[in-house]
Amino acid sequence: MGIEQQVGFDVERVRREFPILETKVRGTKRLVYLDNAATTQRPKRVIDTLKEFYEKYNSNVHRGAHWLSDLATKMYEDARKTVKEFLNAHSHREIVFVRGTTEGINLIATSFSRGLLKEGDEIIVTEMEHHSNIVPWQLVAQQTGAVLKVIPINDKGELILYELENLITDRTKLISIVHVSNSLGTINPVKEIISLAHQKGIPVVVDGAQAVAHISVDVQDLDCDFYVFSGHKIYGPTGIGVVYGKEEWLEKMPPYQGGGDMIKEVTFEKTTYNELPYKFEAGTPNIAGAIGLAEALKWFKQFDINEVHSHENELVQYATELLKEIDGVRIIGEADNKTAVVSFIADGVHPHDIGTGLDMEGVAIRTGHHCTQPIMCHFGIMATARASFAIYNTREEVEIFVDALKKVLKFFRR
Ligand code: PLP
Repeated sequence: MGIEQQVGFDVERVRREFPILETKVRGTKRLVYLDNAATTQRPKRVIDTLKEFYEKYNSNVHRGAHWLSDLATKMYEDARKTVKEFLNAHSHREIVFVRGTTEGINLIATSFSRGLLKEGDEIIVTEMEHHSNIVPWQLVAQQTGAVLKVIPINDKGELILYELENLITDRTKLISIVHVSNSLGTINPVKEIISLAHQKGIPVVVDGAQAVAHISVDVQDLDCDFYVFSGHKIYGPTGIGVVYGKEEWLEKMPPYQGGGDMIKEVTFEKTTYNELPYKFEAGTPNIAGAIGLAEALKWFKQFDINEVHSHENELVQYATELLKEIDGVRIIGEADNKTAVVSFIADGVHPHDIGTGLDMEGVAIRTGHHCTQPIMCHFGIMATARASFAIYNTREEVEIFVDALKKVLKFFRR
């Protein structure tokens, strides 16, 4: 099945497709799920697809000499085509299935470092990266002697872009940036950064973990060299994600892991590698996950992304407005261009207490450093409380959340 026609956006109709939204927290409180940046919920269609795969089609892919394996292979490869269409990639050869964004960035960093990075080379990231887009580069820097440089942010949580021009030198080999920050919600001007980088012949990796479910992503329009995302943050299963890589780069890069499926021929003297994208998919992949992800993408593509974006933006703005009315509450991350996330702190009450208190009211948010400790360091804090929105959230839920927060703050400040 191809990607579907877009339909009008009706939040109540959307909600009915998510069985988990009916859940009562501890059997009593209505679930208000505002932890979507950590993981989204799945529509019934995706859950059914997984069940159906295991009930009817389960088999290993690519090597089978039987009907069931052919069927599973076709479904798996069709899933790749759906991802290709979703990202508007040039070819299915540019779509590699991985476990998620973390594994995807590790794949790129490790593979790129083998042959394309040497001592003194420079990699640029930003101060607002998730640890998944910092630590893999630190690991390869340690191994190769390359150096990590950082684009700073301002106090609104936006990149200080003019610094990038100062950071780029003739030793810059790669830039890796987050599209949308998971702690701040900032939407970065990645197209502009890519264009600047390409003028100097530098490839750009984009961490799209928090972007794909909220803003339009077209890898050919962005002209990024790599784009990475996780299925579970866009209404798909866990354990599946995608690396998009331009063919020219994936051809140049050696395999990430060795094993079955990624080879053409193996002898003890020499192994030759499979063609793209299989060169990067060693071992039995997450077949059901890929098929479930494709279903999630088809489901999501029914909606006009601009309508989804404005719906979520309205929720962000409404929540921000109401939070600012509460004494001693400070928003962390006030970029002009942001989406889906509201991070905040409150005088005299630790974010963890806020999280626990809200949970007692049925409201699920996330507290902590959100795997972005450099951001916390920038703002001189240890943690924030973060409400993050998805397609199925409502204004009423924002009100329940803010009323519950008022109760929690009153309790802890008494
Ligand atoms: N990058 C960003 C911006 C994220 O928000 C996350 C997860 O929260 C990741 C990377 C890592 O994603 P995963 O845990 O699915 O690998």
